[in-house]
Amino acid sequence: MLVVPLVLISLICGVCGIGDIRLLGRIGTKTFIIYMITTALAIATAIGLGVLFGIGKGMNIETEAAFEAASAPPLLDVFSNIIPSNPISAMANGDMLSIIFFAILIGVSILMVGKPAKGLVQSLELINEVILKMVTIIMNLAPYGVFALLTKAMAELGLDLIWSLLGYVAVLVGSLAFHFFVTMMIVLKVSSGLSIKTFLAKMREVQIFAFSTSSSNATIPITLRTVTKRMGVNNSVASFTVPFGATINMDGTAIMQGTATIFIANIYGIDLGVTEYLTVILMSVLASVGTAGVPGVGLIMLSMVFAQVGLPIEGIGLILGVDRILDMLRTAVNVGGDAADGYCGKIRR
Ligand code: ASP
Repeated sequence: MLVVPLVLISLICGVCGIGDIRLLGRIGTKTFIIYMITTALAIATAIGLGVLFGIGKGMNIETEAAFEAASAPPLLDVFSNIIPSNPISAMANGDMLSIIFFAILIGVSILMVGKPAKGLVQSLELINEVILKMVTIIMNLAPYGVFALLTKAMAELGLDLIWSLLGYVAVLVGSLAFHFFVTMMIVLKVSSGLSIKTFLAKMREVQIFAFSTSSSNATIPITLRTVTKRMGVNNSVASFTVPFGATINMDGTAIMQGTATIFIANIYGIDLGVTEYLTVILMSVLASVGTAGVPGVGLIMLSMVFAQVGLPIEGIGLILGVDRILDMLRTAVNVGGDAADGYCGKIRR
C-alpha cells in the first residue's frame, strides 16, 4: 500500500533536495558501483565456500518438484522496460525501476523550472511527511503480522528436506552470515565510519520485517524510515539508494545462486572451470539486478545462470522445497545491503 506512493514522492523530494543534477549523477554512479562490487564479492564468497566444502559431491537425491523455468524475464526487457510507456500502469504494477525513472524525471524537471516550482516542492515534502507518518502507524501493527507470517512459514517447513540438503543449507547460511557480518561491515566501516554495533541495532526491525515477508520491496518503507529517521542519512541520498537497492542490489540472492550452482554441478558430476566460475559471477550479478524484490523470484532467475553454464534447469527442483526459509534469510541480507551500501553515499544531514 505504501511502497509506490512513498518511493515516488520521497524520490522526487530527494532529487529536489540534491539541487544539482550532476551530483545526482555522481550519487547514482557511486551507488551502482558499490552495489555491483558487493554483489560480486557475495557470489565469490558463496562459490569459495561451496568449492571448499564440496557440497553435493556423491549425493543422490530425488527431485523435489518439477521446476517451471520459462518465466524468467529476459534481461534486455528488464532494461528496456525502465522507461514506462504509461507511468500510472507502472505504478499499478509496482514496476520499481520505471517508478524510479519517472520520479527522477519529475524531480529533474522541477529543478529545471527552478524558483516558480518552490511551492510544489514544499507541498511534496509535506506529503512525504504524511506518508512517513502512515508507515509509523502501520509499523505498530507489524509485530502481529510478523508473528503470523513466521508461524505459517515454520509450519510449512519440511524439516526432513532440510536434513537431506544439509550441506547446501549450511554452506548457504554460512556464506550469508559471512557476507553480512564480515564483508558488508568492512565496507560499511571503511566507507562511512559508522559504528557497526549501532548499525546492526538499528537495522534489527528492518531485517525482521524482511525475514518474515521475504520481500525487499515490501520492506522499502521500513528501510527508508530507518536510514533517514534513525541513522541520519539525508533523504536525498536514501530516497534514491533504498528503492534502487531493493530492486537491483541482491547480495543474498546472488549468494544463493552461487551456492546452488556449485551444489547442482556437483550432484550431476559436472566439472566447472575458472571460466565457468567467472561466468557464474557475471550472470549472478546480472540475474540479481533482474530479480524483483518479491518472494521466490531469485530461484526463477537462477535458471538464467544455469542456462549460461550448461547446468540442467531441472536441478532447481532439488532445492525448491527448502527455498522458502532460505528466501527469508537471503532477503534479510538483501535489505541489509541496501541500507549499508546506500549508507556509503555518506551524505548526512
Ligand atoms: N525475496 C528476495 C527479495 O525480495 C528475492 C529473491 O531472492 O527471491 O529480496
